[in-house]
Amino acid sequence: MEIIHLSAECYPVAKVGGLGDVVGALPKYQNKLGHIAKVVMPAYRSKFMQENEFEVVYDSWVALGAQNYPVRIFREKTNKLGFDLFLVHIDGLTDREKVYGYHDDTERFIAYQIAALDWINQWEHKPDVIHTHDHHTGLIPFMTGNCERYKRLSNVPTVLTIHNAQYQGQFGWDKLHYLPAFDLWKSGLLEWKNSINPLASAIKCAWRVSTVSPSYLEEISYHANGLESLLASERGKSAGILNGIDNDVWNPEKDPMLQKNFAFRTVDSGKKANKAALCAVFNLDPAKPLFTFIGRLVGEKGADLLPDIFHNALAHSHGNINILVLGSGDPVIESRLEQLKHWFGGNYNTYIGYNEQLSHQIYAGADFLLMPSRVEPCGLNQMYALRYGTIPIVRRIGGLKDTVVDIGDGGFGICHDQTSVWDVGNAIGRAYGLFQDKKQVKEIRKYMMQLDHSWDRAAQQYIDLYQM
Ligand code: ADP
Repeated sequence: MEIIHLSAECYPVAKVGGLGDVVGALPKYQNKLGHIAKVVMPAYRSKFMQENEFEVVYDSWVALGAQNYPVRIFREKTNKLGFDLFLVHIDGLTDREKVYGYHDDTERFIAYQIAALDWINQWEHKPDVIHTHDHHTGLIPFMTGNCERYKRLSNVPTVLTIHNAQYQGQFGWDKLHYLPAFDLWKSGLLEWKNSINPLASAIKCAWRVSTVSPSYLEEISYHANGLESLLASERGKSAGILNGIDNDVWNPEKDPMLQKNFAFRTVDSGKKANKAALCAVFNLDPAKPLFTFIGRLVGEKGADLLPDIFHNALAHSHGNINILVLGSGDPVIESRLEQLKHWFGGNYNTYIGYNEQLSHQIYAGADFLLMPSRVEPCGLNQMYALRYGTIPIVRRIGGLKDTVVDIGDGGFGICHDQTSVWDVGNAIGRAYGLFQDKKQVKEIRKYMMQLDHSWDRAAQQYIDLYQM
């Protein structure tokens, strides 16, 4: 089967969060199963573009209303990611340093989707499936199904995976003329709550819809930023498939970013060495339990509560714990987290920003990882933590509920029910108690590290979905 993945992110080319990790791994595992999976994404001004070799496979123009933009599609020459990677370069639109956050993101992603489809449309053969990811590629199922220009692709099945329903990419009807011509009576397929809503449109038009965990599929029927009723009505074609992790990239035995590699048999000495190195850099005491948070500093992740949670935990533990934060996002949360350093230096530190290498080192060196998320479609951090012997402390929601079992229920993590200062504080207290029992911690670590969350299972589940 030939599968084309269209996505705004793909690790290691461009990654903002879990979407990048998934699209960087799933195609590789689908290829391992004997299929041909390819990724077509925008060409940002990234290190990956500068450091690798490409050939031009398509040279053309894309029109957005009256404006024409030159388009070039590059293929990475060596297949180094384990799949064919195509980068859509549109002069003046895609060649930016960041993936998102520009005033013209709507134009950027519409132009990318049209350019990608124009190219695929003129292939001699047709792909078997077009797999779109999140709202940035959400107009594709509508366009292939309804635009005259893509009539040839109208019988190619489309799949939408929802990695996060909070972001939908809405824009006004004044931009309708950007899309290639279609019968206007079909406009309703683009519409949700008086705007053009790419995510809603993809939910309506894709042949199949998937979410990144089974629990998230349940939860979005009552919590999906306004799309609840639509998701409920399209439930019949929807499935929840839990993400995997890329065991080639996230492998403590071989990870080149770590101070010391380790396996489950050497978990104690391995984590000790990594923790010591981390604590030396961040002025923390390696004898104390190290709690960490890694992620986007936004309300969805419960990050707005972290300053109060950390303040309470550090004040009440009388200097007996360490906390290290890696993240960026809301400037108010960033500055509140930074301020805590003045009060609790020696027990608390932060790295505000994005740092892939440091994230690996923290998964390896920390004792506990906090995820007090309000919304968590799947969550990859907890799976990386498990693989690196770091005990996850998670709210029972979405993919966290599907992957972490509380030690009280015979499991290996610490779970709480609410995103509240009280609940998370209580969970930190339980973790502190657990940390005193070195034997139990060692057993839990060994057990967690052997859990299998690899992509092999999920890659096959997607193939089954395509077959349907
Ligand atoms: P989301 O996609 O909602 O942000 P996920 O848990 O699905 O959350 O994926 C987050 C991914 O981004 C993980 O690979 C995590 O390690 C990484 N990540 C998040 N913030 C940072 C950061 N500041 N530095 C390095 N990696 C980060």
